[in-house]
Amino acid sequence: MNNAEVSCFDFVTSSGNRHLKLDEGARLILSMGLGDQATELQPLAKLMGRVLSEDIHAPFNVPPHRNAAMDGFAIKGESLLSQNTWTIVGQSFAGKRFSNAISLQDAVQITTGAPMPEGADTVIMKEMCEVSGSLLTVEHAQSIRIGSNVRQAGEDIEQGSLVLNRGQRLGSVEIGMIASLGFAEVNVYQTLKVAVFSTGDEVCAPGELRGDDGIYDTNRFTLIAMLRGLECEVSDLGILPDNQAAIEASLRDAALHHRLVLTSGGVSVGEADFVKQALNKLGNTNFWQLAIRPGRPIAFGDLGVNNQGETCLFAGLPGNPVAVLVTFCILIQPLIRRLQGETEWVGLTWTSKATESMKSRIGRSDFHRGIYTINEKGEVEVRTTGPQGSGILTSMHEANCLIRIEETRDHIEAGELVKIYPFSRWLPGYPLV
Ligand code: AMP
Ligand code: MG
Repeated sequence: MNNAEVSCFDFVTSSGNRHLKLDEGARLILSMGLGDQATELQPLAKLMGRVLSEDIHAPFNVPPHRNAAMDGFAIKGESLLSQNTWTIVGQSFAGKRFSNAISLQDAVQITTGAPMPEGADTVIMKEMCEVSGSLLTVEHAQSIRIGSNVRQAGEDIEQGSLVLNRGQRLGSVEIGMIASLGFAEVNVYQTLKVAVFSTGDEVCAPGELRGDDGIYDTNRFTLIAMLRGLECEVSDLGILPDNQAAIEASLRDAALHHRLVLTSGGVSVGEADFVKQALNKLGNTNFWQLAIRPGRPIAFGDLGVNNQGETCLFAGLPGNPVAVLVTFCILIQPLIRRLQGETEWVGLTWTSKATESMKSRIGRSDFHRGIYTINEKGEVEVRTTGPQGSGILTSMHEANCLIRIEETRDHIEAGELVKIYPFSRWLPGYPLV
């Protein structure tokens, strides 16, 4: 067997760690997101960010009847060929229609959106009309096209047609569409229950006293914020000490009540042993040396079955705050979206011209923090935020994208094209306004 045929699980280091390429790891993680999430009926006010679990068909035409696209006068179009005066016989307003049929001599005053009177097929816009008592005069009547300024019934959505797909995540526009079709509630997938822990004796909770060797817990809060951005139901389970029994007890309990448990820290080679033993007692977890930077050590597997009868998945992310953000966005987010039933998500990437050189290493996918701009020619250009250490959280704050350097490259020259992952698409909870 040559190297190209070796499966990713055959790369095992002396410490038992598996070496995986990024795309292989991503595929394996995503393949765990199978099985149907239970559904529930939810009212319009609670639909923001939820994922539809049913197709939505239009129960009627939208608009439901022919109506005026302008304020003006509704007439029979063929009368335009032979006359330029009409008798105003009534009014049709939105919500209060003119209910008689009209003849060639008749005009009905009409407002935008109001139903067309029976027999009328054309609206003359108000600006062209002169009104004197009940007499309507139009100077250039011959220039008006028959059928002008009328919206046809079903022009926007035809009765019975598919309007929204199952698997679609709902935003403000989609909620408005559901409301416009008269539905007060629709079926969505139940919220995904996710538990979050930090690990490490040095990690302190913000607001508490920090010892000389302590660092404040960052990861729990970035993870919780990103999970909320994805509309998960999040349990904040605090900080786990570097102690096997405590880790095992906490994970065992969390596994019962959640579909996914996320931890950060404690998975690097030197540290992983007691985490590993705790995890192996509960289910199956693989420790990977993923060929990415930042984010090399990562653990993924399951913690057994929860009290809903579903497998509780487990992801042990690295400890460095930037590595947590990057691995969550690139690897965990697609899994969460799949577990939530979302089928329409595409992690959009752009091609962009690098304006500076960047270093990497063959065999590893590097994610530099980048700032993209649009130059005067309308091209997307990208530069890095400067130093790229995986503990430098300010590099994420200054950035608006990640720059991926593929594993076949050891550097990028200024002027070359690179793939970028815009935060507006990839970082849940990234402020868009
Ligand atoms: P570890 O993999 O546990 O050795 O963690 C790698 C690095 O990330 C260490 O410098 C840790 O102190 C740091 N780290 C781990 N967990 C957190 C956390 N929750 N917030 C901020 N930094 C952390
Ligand atoms: Mg640690």
